[in-house]
Amino acid sequence: MKPVNVGLCGLGTVGRGTLSVMQRNMQDINRRSGRPVRITHIGARRDNPSCDFTGIKVSRDIFDVARDPEVDVVVELIGGYEPAKQLVLEAIAHGKHVVTANKALIAVHGNELFRAAEEKGVKVAYEASVAGGIPIIKALREGLVANDIQWLAGIINGTGNFILTEMKEKGRSFGDVLAEAQALGYAEADPTFDVEGIDAAHKLTILASIAFGIPLQFDRVYTEGISKITQADVQFAEELGYRIKHLGLARKSRQGVELRVHPTLIPEKRLIANVNGVLNAVLVEGDAVGPTMYYGRGAGSEPTASAVIADIVDVARSIGADNGVPHLGFSDFSTNIDVLDMGEVETCYYLRISAQDKIGVMANIAQIVSRHNINIEAIIQKEPQDNEDTVPLILLTHKVIEKNVVAAIQEIESLVEVTVPVTRIRMERLDG
Ligand code: NAP
Repeated sequence: MKPVNVGLCGLGTVGRGTLSVMQRNMQDINRRSGRPVRITHIGARRDNPSCDFTGIKVSRDIFDVARDPEVDVVVELIGGYEPAKQLVLEAIAHGKHVVTANKALIAVHGNELFRAAEEKGVKVAYEASVAGGIPIIKALREGLVANDIQWLAGIINGTGNFILTEMKEKGRSFGDVLAEAQALGYAEADPTFDVEGIDAAHKLTILASIAFGIPLQFDRVYTEGISKITQADVQFAEELGYRIKHLGLARKSRQGVELRVHPTLIPEKRLIANVNGVLNAVLVEGDAVGPTMYYGRGAGSEPTASAVIADIVDVARSIGADNGVPHLGFSDFSTNIDVLDMGEVETCYYLRISAQDKIGVMANIAQIVSRHNINIEAIIQKEPQDNEDTVPLILLTHKVIEKNVVAAIQEIESLVEVTVPVTRIRMERLDG
């Protein structure tokens, strides 16, 4: 069989991992592909003394790789929107298949890239873009094809999960753990994408499209980060039998599709509530299979390389024998499923209100809550701490439409006895 030649662009964390795992496991990778698969060309701006380039051409310009007539598959591992997008389009225009780990690129420009690839009869594979080494895209797109997917929920950003785990287990503050995550290299120097939920929103966009057969719609994802989670909320959640996790959640209902990323209280007995540290997990509920969970390393050099190489082998197997898996799992998009506005989403809530310890305040709050059709599942009122004239009041609600909660919070915050903003964290039972 004719060998499949791979051009690798970007020799950073994932690029180096891909080169090294390909070289280490070459024999088995070739046996599994049914034909030799080899890296023949690398695009990298600088030398890397730790890499073995024997038999590999190295170019300083990544576009030389995309235009190399000998290359069959271009692997984009530079990240970001540009020049990654131009590189992928150039590779497609030259009739090459593409493998990428770039979630930002797929979530924002995927519709356009897949269209271009389909016109040219080539594939754009992107398993590594969501949850690193966990083969969640393959599971959703192939293993679960029989199912009407009802919902999925994922811990899909390792940095955020590391921070929340440390806050819970060691009683540390958000800022303190974030500084450590940066020092350990888990978080970017600019941690916004991780802690404000943008990275998770990119990944959720991709998962939701594959699960529900809808176009990629990154701009419709409601996105809230973890930077406002306090130690007090982590402790109150624990007292109530919950863990706070940063979840990406996509759910299909009669009204439409919910796409949301936010901190979430989850009952501590759920498996996903016990996914700790930098690990990732995605829980998928299908009508036939029931709940299934996928767990493992969502980032890192070799775990991510594992998914990149799986895509390279998939593409190698499909050359000359179309394996027929559409880019987003469905052969066409559903045009009649709308993404719901967040105000219309129905879920349960944890509300923490700091109110002055005066007669009548509780009654006022109870009246406001009831006026907005919010049913309370549990109330906890704490004793005031030393030197504080406010008491924390925790309310857990039954399911209610978000806009009712927003309106109630506005009224509660207008009470003279309530001097700090109300903390609101959504709550999900994730039990079907
Ligand atoms: P990285 O360590 O920053 O590596 C990126 C590499 O791309 C660097 O070596 C950089 O070269 C090179 N590069 C950037 N622009 C270039 C250009 N114009 N020409 C040539 N080289 C260029 O990033 P990474 O962590 O490997 O991530 C790569 C991709 O994988 C990203 O899309 C990321 O989101 C995704 N991903 C990463 C992980 C992970 O654990 N790291 C997990 C899942 C997905 P210089 O060194 O010269 O700047």
